[in-house]
Amino acid sequence: MRVDLLGLPVDLLSRDETRIRALAAMRGDAAPCRHAALNVATLVGARRDGALARELRESDIVGVDGAGIALALWLKGCGRVARVPALDLFESLVGACAREGLRPFLLGAKPDVVADAARSLRRRHPRLVLAGLHHGYFRPDQEAELCRRIAASGADGLFVALPAPQQEGFLRRHREHLDVPFVMSIGGAFDVVAGRVHRAPPLVRRIGAEWAYALVQEPGRLAGRTLRTNTAFAGLLLAAALRRLAGPAGARPTRCVRAQPAVTTTTRRRS
Ligand code: UDP
Repeated sequence: MRVDLLGLPVDLLSRDETRIRALAAMRGDAAPCRHAALNVATLVGARRDGALARELRESDIVGVDGAGIALALWLKGCGRVARVPALDLFESLVGACAREGLRPFLLGAKPDVVADAARSLRRRHPRLVLAGLHHGYFRPDQEAELCRRIAASGADGLFVALPAPQQEGFLRRHREHLDVPFVMSIGGAFDVVAGRVHRAPPLVRRIGAEWAYALVQEPGRLAGRTLRTNTAFAGLLLAAALRRLAGPAGARPTRCVRAQPAVTTTTRRRS
């Protein structure tokens, strides 16, 4: 079910449901699929950046990536929704690609990081065949050639690991030319897979405090940004709660209402 959260779409899908849809697209058994992962930073960014908001609205799946989004959905009355962190989905899809002979393309991060991420994935999945890989430090005038390379690789899935909203922008500008049936943006995932950044331990993830763990690891880079986005998000939740109280609905409980269905992307279907 797709619901509206502060003006943006979110799909309440379990990990398995998401995986099944992604794999069906990759196999060519279903329409092409564009996946976006919604976390607090993306939501706050999309409220200010119309292009990012449009990209989310046009995505076929907008997954619940972060604990903050799950909390906001709970406050809205959707109950306890399943989180589908982009990194987990990526890892699980790569494992399925290895088993089924599907070929992912890895795009993003520094050259040595994406190479190490590929090595680590191949070590864990010896049957994995990558359609290709490319670092994420390219100039705008190099994008067309990069897209030609991705299209020519015959990739079944494209995983884009750039900062937000750069990764969403790349997919929005080039989705017509990529000819890949499943595309997904995964932020800093290659840094984790390559062992450059440590992921929060399971307990920290379970209580939804990855952002605090990341902050402790890289305070210089993340302190200002985390404070800004978390404060803005808390403000949005508070304003929404006050609007509900002041509005005609009065003290009625909030409801989890179905939103407009996802707009099907124009990514080309595999021949
Ligand atoms: N990155 C990239 N190209 C760039 C800038 C960053 O490929 O021009 C990579 C960076 O190396 C990292 C990923 O994008 O692997 C996510 O970057 P960052 O952690 O800065 O973004 P965030 O996830 O914090 O938005």
